[in-house]
Amino acid sequence: MKIRVDKIPEEGQDIETKFEPSEVNLNFRGYNLREDIAFTGRATRSDDDVYVTGTLKGSITSECSRCLASFAMPVEMAMNVLCVPERDMATREEEMADQPAVDLSFYKEDVIDLLHETRELLIVNLPVKPVCSDECKGLCPQCGADLNVAPCACELDAISSPFEKLKDLKGKLKEKRQNP
Ligand SMILES: [Zn+2]
Ligand SMILES: [Zn+2]
Repeated sequence: MKIRVDKIPEEGQDIETKFEPSEVNLNFRGYNLREDIAFTGRATRSDDDVYVTGTLKGSITSECSRCLASFAMPVEMAMNVLCVPERDMATREEEMADQPAVDLSFYKEDVIDLLHETRELLIVNLPVKPVCSDECKGLCPQCGADLNVAPCACELDAISSPFEKLKDLKGKLKEKRQNP
């Protein structure tokens, strides 16, 4: 969706729109968008500055970074972006440097591309390592078993002390010598 800057009324413009997975085209880091992402918000204008605020809501199919299972991750992100004309880029960047709560974006030819802003927000805010649940135990690094399903034998090994293992090994060697 494009917002025409010169069409934003003085009192602001309510925005309610949806983006399809194919337009968002989110293909990175094990994320897969299968449902629409909804945006509800508002654009207000002061001269050529346009402030876009609102909420992105949806669900993104993600791969758990611990157990590799696919899960639906609910997404709810706040958009707080000040869009200024591209020609003002340099001066505005300096000005806004001390306002980390507001993102700064630039528009060309009097048009703000809300899809672009949506993608930016998603890409910056999606976790690098999504987890299906905070309690996810992940996969065993040794045998690859899903530890959410059941503990594996390696886990037990890791718990027993290294000296136990050594004793075990010595025992086995002795056995071998005695029964060649
Ligand atoms: Zn998991
Ligand atoms: Zn294991």
